[in-house]
Amino acid sequence: MNPDLRRHLPSFRREAHAAPIGLYLHVPFCLDRCTYCSFATTRDRGLQPDTIRRLVQEVKDWGAELGRPPVDTLYLGGGTPSLLSAAELTDLSVAVRDAFDLAPLVEATLEANPGTVDAGWLGLARDLGWDRVSLGVQALDDALLARLGRIHGAAQALESLDLARAAGFARRSADLMVGIPGQSLSKVVEDARTLAATGLEHLSIYLLDLDKACPLRADIDAGRLHLPSEDDVADAFEALQDELPRLGLQPYEISNYARPGGESIHNTRYWERRPYLGLGPSAASHLGSCRWTESSVIQAWAEGRGELELQELDGAESLSEIPLLGLRLHRGIHWGALCEQAERMNLRPLCDAWETRLRGLAAEGLVQWEGDRVRLSSRGMLLSNGILQMFV
Ligand code: SF4
Repeated sequence: MNPDLRRHLPSFRREAHAAPIGLYLHVPFCLDRCTYCSFATTRDRGLQPDTIRRLVQEVKDWGAELGRPPVDTLYLGGGTPSLLSAAELTDLSVAVRDAFDLAPLVEATLEANPGTVDAGWLGLARDLGWDRVSLGVQALDDALLARLGRIHGAAQALESLDLARAAGFARRSADLMVGIPGQSLSKVVEDARTLAATGLEHLSIYLLDLDKACPLRADIDAGRLHLPSEDDVADAFEALQDELPRLGLQPYEISNYARPGGESIHNTRYWERRPYLGLGPSAASHLGSCRWTESSVIQAWAEGRGELELQELDGAESLSEIPLLGLRLHRGIHWGALCEQAERMNLRPLCDAWETRLRGLAAEGLVQWEGDRVRLSSRGMLLSNGILQMFV
């Protein structure tokens, strides 16, 4: 364990035994790089055996250091976890079961990419205890998928959802992207309808994010491709806000819709600011008053010499995170409880200043107060990036 983290080990242990934590494992490999991707992943599969061996060891070491703490949500993300071999998936799953107490487990999600799953792999995952699958669909249009550099077509994406159901994954989620060059509003809505018709219980809607350097950004900067206008993108999000509830998928977070009871329990813990441990290159953790991110340099991480980014949160930072994350949820947050907590921390003026600004936004229809709860309105959700800046 990194010496900076070891200093905090007693408080990590306390927190990890006060209530079940979440465990996130990161698999940083992909068959090919999508044109819009800036995640710390690689297609150099030669690094995979050592990286997964190290990940298995990290699971064992952290489980032992924390005293086999209880875990209620598991998430195997990436990258493309469905590139794990059967032996790697088995080793990792068994290591988690041995090193952590899974008695309170309520959800075990793995991410998969269409084009990398078959019935055998999904059946094995199900047998190993994974009970929810999240598929990176992004769009159901072959031309748009090719533009994004995805390795699959639309038919393969739908087939993967069917394969997952046939393998026993009653809980299935898909990602859909908005703002792709050449994507029409009617096509976004049509794709959402097609996905809902597969019976999936959860849909994540993401805006194509090209903040960092990537091939698609270069094509746009060079004028070879054009992003839809901001108005068109806003219209697409509004159309989905209207359409998805009609399809049985209710919004519960800025980017996420689910059938009743189908919300992602693991991801909700991030917005509720509940503790989690993340293992793997670039994985993030939040335990006690610490947040840290592991090295994104995959080979360095696999060799145990990656640099860690550690942040020790002070009282004001911890308090700010409650509305910053909690207002992403449609149910919002309990403002009275936040103010009481601020009072105990001698930070009441900070809370009062936020309230003044939120009351102003309520007058503009961006925020809603319901008794002692506060939440963003539908329009506030569309403008959330700007609104939530007040807590940063
Ligand atoms: S599959 Fe996901 S992580 Fe891999 S390159 Fe594409 S967007 Fe990035």
